[in-house]
Amino acid sequence: MGEGVLTDAYARRDGALYCEGVPAEEIAREAGTPAFVYSASVIRDRYLKLTGALGGVPHRVHYSLKANSNRAVLKLLRQMGAGVDVVSGGELFRALRAGFSGRDIIFGGVGKTERELREALQADVKLINVESEAELRLLSHIATELGVTAPVGFRINPEVAVANAHAFIATGSKGHKFGIPFGDAIGAVRTALKLPNIRILGLDMHVGSQLSTFDPYRAGLARMAELASEMVAMGTTLKFVDIGGGLPVSYGEGASDPDLDNYATLITPAIKALGAELLVEPGRFFTAASGVLLTRVLYRKQSGGKTYVIVDTGMTELLRPSHYSAYHLIEAVKPNGARLVADVVGPVCETGDFLALDREMDDVAPGDLVVIHTTGAYGYVMSSNYNARPKAAEVVVDGDRYAVVTARESYEDLVRLEQDNPTWRTA
Ligand SMILES: *Cc1c(COP(=O)(O)O)cnc(C)c1O
Repeated sequence: MGEGVLTDAYARRDGALYCEGVPAEEIAREAGTPAFVYSASVIRDRYLKLTGALGGVPHRVHYSLKANSNRAVLKLLRQMGAGVDVVSGGELFRALRAGFSGRDIIFGGVGKTERELREALQADVKLINVESEAELRLLSHIATELGVTAPVGFRINPEVAVANAHAFIATGSKGHKFGIPFGDAIGAVRTALKLPNIRILGLDMHVGSQLSTFDPYRAGLARMAELASEMVAMGTTLKFVDIGGGLPVSYGEGASDPDLDNYATLITPAIKALGAELLVEPGRFFTAASGVLLTRVLYRKQSGGKTYVIVDTGMTELLRPSHYSAYHLIEAVKPNGARLVADVVGPVCETGDFLALDREMDDVAPGDLVVIHTTGAYGYVMSSNYNARPKAAEVVVDGDRYAVVTARESYEDLVRLEQDNPTWRTA
């Protein structure tokens, strides 16, 4: 894992934090707080670095939309040449709305509904990664009904050891809910060969997120190669080998950004040997470091010998600290030079509503603008309206220009779907 290979769009000028060419203060004044801000250049830069590193083999990058699915970010990646990886009908809808066409889209997910499978076939997606024999049978049935052929990849569980920052983001070890258990994979292929309107195109794995080493890719690819040779012996040809996402990012706690050359060196020979096109599905890697969450300090409080910094954002906008014990670097936009140790907490009525515990950080006072770093992935997309909190605004910065790309929700938005006069039926 290398250091300093990727650009950082957030730097200080005259002591104040900028995103690319725009002062954070100005964005907060215009968009209000809390607001997510994403740097376009970080996303573009990472896309170019990854496709550059993988240049030795035929490949396509399918951005995992679940990390950050706003239309501006999707359009930016589409313009770079990326495809997408979607895991629900809603994500498929978002992808199509952002201008992706079926051939740009991989559809995955452990619990696809009949409706979602139908929508994927109707959108003529490039690949549907199936996770069980039951799903395969349902897909064959729907494809036959629609008179189309379903493009199938087998998401297998390679059952490899995965070391992640948190157990909730490991997905490719024995006993996880994801994928077809390794020992059942050939049986599923045999079933697929007998089913009508199924075209076998590939193998897929996604071993986990925020991988701290690349060993799971190596081990997973070796297991995929075992299956591939059996599949070829059974008369199938593999067009795609999809190795999922999982590229880690540095959250500023000592972990570093991935060394893409190492990643490519490890993967390339295996892909060449398989003679297939490589598909990769990174999410976090593209957007996490592009984003910050801007928030204002509301209060400072002492309680039980502890200092609390109470800000206007919390678990409703950024769930990662309480859900994954995740670390996010927190800084004052204009530091005064002093430091403090505090719990940084939000306004939500939950003890789990924190952004940092016992954190040594810039001294801040009510009214100060604070930035929570590396929040461009699994931030806004995991946000909720708990405590009837309207969702935050999203802003994209590109050079010295910026735009609010998702407006802040209003109170009216919170109740829009409630029925004024519900229709009561009698059973
Ligand atoms: C979540 C997910 C990804 C993206 O993971 P990152 O860690 O954000 O790169 C890719 N593929 C699948 C199938 C996923 O579920």
